[in-house]
Amino acid sequence: MGNIVLLDDLTINKIAAGEVIERPANVVKELVENSIDAGATNIIIEIKNGGKSLIKVVDNGKGISPGDLEISIESHATSKIKKIEDLENTYTMGFRGEALASISAVSYFTLISKTENNLSGYKMTATSGNIINIEEVAAKTGTTIMVENLFFNTPVRYKFLKNDGTESKYIKEWVQKVALVNLNISFKLIIDKKDVFSSNGNGKIEDLIYVIYGKKICDNIIKVDYNFDKYKMSGVVGNTMIAEETRRNQITYLNKRIIKNPIIMNAIDQAFKGATGIGKHGFCILNLEMPANFYDVNVHPNKMEVRFKDEDEIYKFVYHGIKESLLNAEFLGDDDKSDKKEYVENEFKFLKNESDVKTEDDNIIRENKRKIDYKFLGISFKTYIVIQIKNDVYFIDQHAAHERILYEQIKNNYKNNISHNTQMTFIPEVFELKHNEAEFIKENMELFTNIGFDLEFFGDNSIKINGIPDIEYRGKTKNIFFDILDEMLSTNRTIFKDIEERFIATVACKAAVKAGMDLTEKEVDYLIQNLLVLNNPYTCPHGRPTTIKFNKNEMSL
Ligand code: ADP
Ligand code: MG
Repeated sequence: MGNIVLLDDLTINKIAAGEVIERPANVVKELVENSIDAGATNIIIEIKNGGKSLIKVVDNGKGISPGDLEISIESHATSKIKKIEDLENTYTMGFRGEALASISAVSYFTLISKTENNLSGYKMTATSGNIINIEEVAAKTGTTIMVENLFFNTPVRYKFLKNDGTESKYIKEWVQKVALVNLNISFKLIIDKKDVFSSNGNGKIEDLIYVIYGKKICDNIIKVDYNFDKYKMSGVVGNTMIAEETRRNQITYLNKRIIKNPIIMNAIDQAFKGATGIGKHGFCILNLEMPANFYDVNVHPNKMEVRFKDEDEIYKFVYHGIKESLLNAEFLGDDDKSDKKEYVENEFKFLKNESDVKTEDDNIIRENKRKIDYKFLGISFKTYIVIQIKNDVYFIDQHAAHERILYEQIKNNYKNNISHNTQMTFIPEVFELKHNEAEFIKENMELFTNIGFDLEFFGDNSIKINGIPDIEYRGKTKNIFFDILDEMLSTNRTIFKDIEERFIATVACKAAVKAGMDLTEKEVDYLIQNLLVLNNPYTCPHGRPTTIKFNKNEMSL
């Protein structure tokens, strides 16, 4: 007699269940996804003891016809695909036909369902994968599934569960994420008899964000509604005020399915660069829509992973969608919705090192330039310009604002190799250099030249500054030059793109007016008007906000 035997069905299903159903939240996920696939517009989820003793999902979907009841809990039984090629054209959440089989193998399982065409409903009970009873019952069209005593027959898995509170938290987070992308379905979550969350299915994401995240987040989001070719992106992105150290407030979906994908994550990071503080991650809730044959979700049973067929195109799409949306935010009460495509495209080309197209047209400025009327209130702490526009008071950070203006000019000159971007110094000065300084300049002479410096080495360790970038600033040539050198030498960067990007930002930073400098009213006006016309006036290149707004209502007690 050999040692190899075929496993029985229950054993197979218990093992398979471990793949898909690791904890109560996975059961909720599978059941709710089935409800969504069934076209439900109203889904009620009730759990007890973190889902360990009860998970109940009630929907008003199309129901399961009596003839399909028994097979629905067989493994690999699905109504959603017939052959693998169907996946190319499938938009349902499920397609493996494993969930009900797995769940009913490890619980006391009850299913009540009625279709529109049947007068009565049917109730089926099963445990350890065996059907115990099927009977006719009165029911409304839709399906109710009850899962009791989860993992009662797999004690090891039961032991690995966390406490009720933690399991409940996983469930709540998941239900909220699903509600955020299924805006036309109303969800209700009841935990231990308490209503803990509900959405009304009114289609408005901002209402739901208010409920889930609160007022501050809601006040700092920008709606995303972006199309390109067969791609579509909707949801919201957040400005710098609500960026965080972690990625917990970044949710991405693909055709409404929650996914995690490194290409998308990377595109998000790049698109938010400079729009959030250093080391921070922008807030975003984004649903990407595209034809099902553009990707493959058949990677892992929990289906969070996905492979795209054209990764470059996805990357570009996500980058553009986010960046253009961020640039659609209002600024100083000016709700400019002009086309930011060209600006973003240039930024993208620069990022991708494709900016060899040399145009001199000044693309950093918004299309409809206009002046703004404001009431100048003063400057506080020699740092914040305070102005009033209608019912809003703005604090404008003079350094951050000037930095952004200079940054855009310098970057534009640099990218386009504009030759007249040097102002010659009146009397060229010669400076001694330390060894590492001289090294850095020699290695990166092109950076200095492209940005507008005209430098000349005298021997190995002295340099003559003939010209400096032609931008408006007040500092001394020598100070700016050495400040820039200092800053560049203080960090170790090896990727040229990073050095280049940092160099441009550093020149802008060092040349900009500082906090503590006195500005005249004329200079203030120059800053405000020049900031206002930029495509991207919102933050300094390091992501600090240039302006903070207070509404009259917020200020009254
Ligand atoms: P899958 O979702 O991958 O098809 P499941 O095991 O989750 O597999 O479900 C099996 C089948 O049971 C589904 O294909 C569907 O036909 C039916 N079903 C499950 N839940 C529901 C529901 N809430 N409403 C209507 N039909 C359902
Ligand atoms: Mg399913």
